Amino acid sequence: MLFERAKLMQLLYHSLPNRKKHVLPGKKVVAVEQDDYGVEVACTDGSKYSGDILVGCDGAHSIARRLGMPGAPTAQPFESKFRCLFGVAKLVDGLEPCSLIETHDKDVMFQLLTSETQAFFLVYEAKGPEEADYKRYTQADCEALARKYGAHAIGRGGRAIFSHLWETRDRADLFDLGEGIADKWHGGRVVLLGDAVHKVSVLAKRCFLNPTGKGGIVADNSALKMTSNHAFGANCALEDAASLTNGLRALIQRNGSPSALHYGDVFGQYQKERQGRAKLCMLFTGNYTRFATWQNWFYKFACLYLAPAIGDQFVADWCFSLIPKHGVKLDFVPEGQSKVGKVMYSM
Ligand SMILES: Cc1cc2nc3c(=O)[nH]c(=O)nc-3n(C[C@H](O)[C@H](O)[C@H](O)COP(=O)(O)OP(=O)(O)OC[C@H]3O[C@@H](n4cnc5c(N)ncnc54)[C@H](O)[C@@H]3O)c2cc1C
Repeated sequence: MLFERAKLMQLLYHSLPNRKKHVLPGKKVVAVEQDDYGVEVACTDGSKYSGDILVGCDGAHSIARRLGMPGAPTAQPFESKFRCLFGVAKLVDGLEPCSLIETHDKDVMFQLLTSETQAFFLVYEAKGPEEADYKRYTQADCEALARKYGAHAIGRGGRAIFSHLWETRDRADLFDLGEGIADKWHGGRVVLLGDAVHKVSVLAKRCFLNPTGKGGIVADNSALKMTSNHAFGANCALEDAASLTNGLRALIQRNGSPSALHYGDVFGQYQKERQGRAKLCMLFTGNYTRFATWQNWFYKFACLYLAPAIGDQFVADWCFSLIPKHGVKLDFVPEGQSKVGKVMYSM
């Protein structure tokens, strides 16, 4: 399913009971303090909130990770070897609707997700060895990158080039992509989840040889109604949330007023359950990005000759599906009439 993150957040927000009480927009946490009895956060507007535990799901620059956990390293646990130009444009001639289309080349990969009328584009570029780890980019940087690759083919047959898409864009932004896993996921009454503890850089996809022979391979999933392609970042965060919720719920059922020690045990179990899978996702997607941008001769060879020979369907069914099929689920919510497909859950 392809949808915008804002839509998912809207759906979750409007499904939440008592949302006005639980969600306080416009707050910025600037300090975290914990002791044997609880944890307290302070915000820029002077307000303070206290509780038994703090779940830091505050992204890659997490303040909960930097300030909330005793003995936590202050350095960023992620490195950034790729940047990504992300945007939304009109569907232009030469691109198939409702498809996932990729074009691979040395140091750059174009990834397009198309609907009947729009194309979401992601241009991944390998950063030079001398470039600073994390950087903020301006609109001028976006323009410069778009100009650099303006004449590059981006679809089957080479009819569409990147500038066609760029000229019809609604919006675009340039980010550094982080990769890495934090060693410490919890400390005392503070626990972290999502991008605060792991960054995975790229979406997974299927591949075909570019028939033009130029600019590497093109991937396209228009032949299938449903694929096991998987995007990992937010999905990893959702699995973290499920795993932690399962643990906390079981704890509260056993013990109505848990101590910091009890919480620590649950947080430890949660890290144990999730860290391995998060690492797998990171390696999987990180290696895919390097493969698709031909970071060494073997990746280039594999990308141009092995992957097309093995076949797109095989890769989707036997490689990408390995990850979602073991996904963590809430263990107390009955599933009802869920759809049944070729790839079964196997927890
Ligand atoms: C271009 C791009 C495309 C992507 N595509 C996909 C995809 O297709 N599928 C997928 O699964 N993942 C995708 N991801 C990854 C995904 O967006 C992230 O992994 C996911 O958003 C992580 O969720 P999170 O809740 O951990 O962190 P975030 O989404 O970063 O949320 C953190 C929240 O904490 C808030 N916050 C931060 N600091 C403070 C503070 N001091 N006080 C109060 N609030 C604070 C922020 O405002 C934000 O709301 C993509 C990422 C990028 C950059």
